[in-house]
Amino acid sequence: MATRLIFLILLWKSKLISFLISFFRIGQASNFPGKLALLFQKDILRNFNFSKDCKLIFITGTNGKSTTSGLLANFLKLSGKQVFYNKSGANLLSGFVRTLCHYSNLFGTTKADFIIFEVDEATLPLLTTQLKPDLIAVTNFFRDQLDRFGELDTAVKLIEKGINNSNHDLITVLNADDPRVAFLNINTKKVFYGFEKNTFEDLLLNNNKNKDSDWINDPEEATNCPKCNESLSYKIKFLAHLGDYECSKCGVKRPNRDFEISNYKADNLATNLDITFNNHRNNFFTSMIGTFNLYNVLCAISIAKTISNITNTQIQKGFQSYSTIFGRGEKALLKNKVSWIYLIKNPTGTTEVLKTLLNIEKARFVIGINDNLADGRDVSWIWDARFDLLSDHNKPIFVTGKRALDMGLRLKYSNIDSKQIYISENIEKTINHAISQIEKDETLYILPTYTVLLEMQKKGLCKKQSL
Ligand SMILES: [Zn+2]
Repeated sequence: MATRLIFLILLWKSKLISFLISFFRIGQASNFPGKLALLFQKDILRNFNFSKDCKLIFITGTNGKSTTSGLLANFLKLSGKQVFYNKSGANLLSGFVRTLCHYSNLFGTTKADFIIFEVDEATLPLLTTQLKPDLIAVTNFFRDQLDRFGELDTAVKLIEKGINNSNHDLITVLNADDPRVAFLNINTKKVFYGFEKNTFEDLLLNNNKNKDSDWINDPEEATNCPKCNESLSYKIKFLAHLGDYECSKCGVKRPNRDFEISNYKADNLATNLDITFNNHRNNFFTSMIGTFNLYNVLCAISIAKTISNITNTQIQKGFQSYSTIFGRGEKALLKNKVSWIYLIKNPTGTTEVLKTLLNIEKARFVIGINDNLADGRDVSWIWDARFDLLSDHNKPIFVTGKRALDMGLRLKYSNIDSKQIYISENIEKTINHAISQIEKDETLYILPTYTVLLEMQKKGLCKKQSL
């Protein structure tokens, strides 16, 4: 009884503080109310109630969490369901407390059909001791902000622990093409997604005939067998270490896929794809482009089809009304010139963004690198990202942020003429300069790390995303 009373008082206090913060516009809604509530009740999340049919979905892994959650939320909303999700990307425990305080009524009950949480590797085990999800999806494991989470093995163990904390009837949706995800040491009902080998074999070979087989040189993660640690042999790699693999020593191989991309056609503006499930090919059309997004799309559809009775038409409508998550392909209007912002944070994501954008004619680039805590202090990842793809780009490249010099050096080592590289740590100045330099028919692509993006918002260089 006392616990319940403390919970309700904390809930009302959090609601009040959140209201005051937004009423007086004291910065963006922060995690402060959540932090405060956690200080008084460590297991506060246990006290929230959900309506009987509410499904709780967690999406974790290194890349693609935000895009996948955003898409999934859109699909489910379009099927007439009430959906809550932490679209602010609040990944810490306090963020989840704040989100649930916000969405629940004065008695701590959340009335939604679906709640979607995007969860960091390190937060998952903490969260699943208090909340019991119905479904957990794991997208992939890449080296990302290693200084925050330590080795890849640590991330894998954290996710295993998080999943094993959960209920026995938990469903996991797993990327079959990533050996570490497919062979997580967990005991759950598993649904696998991945690419069909044959279709992609032809496409990859055709696509790369003139490109020096780029995909072979992609930044890679460990490709050892998750069971016996022998080197895995690949029949094909779709993206970095994601592919069709096999272990010659113990026989581990890529599991069969329940959801599979069996065909796709893409140009600079759109992707037309077939996804096979329940022995049927289903055609979808989306304005999302790039191999990475194919994985996000596939993961979101696999979850939606597994946990609801959504129709293909509703999914298609979801694609049409989906606007990308801020910073991951956001259109901005700077001084009446159209530009696009693509957040970069790790080697693979950055390489994919570069590959996608270099296909676009008349693209011009600004690259902004900071090394604040939220960016990851260690910027050595820029040496693993394929900035050498820019070596044929015979236009000026603008480099900015606290680590502009390092980034400039990285470009010089990619055989880019130093006369072509403009370096200034001043973000506002650099972006204004870049805008003044581009021609009418050119488009500016800004690739910032997270806090460079925040500074751009602060200086009014792009719009703020409200929560
Ligand atoms: Zn093996």
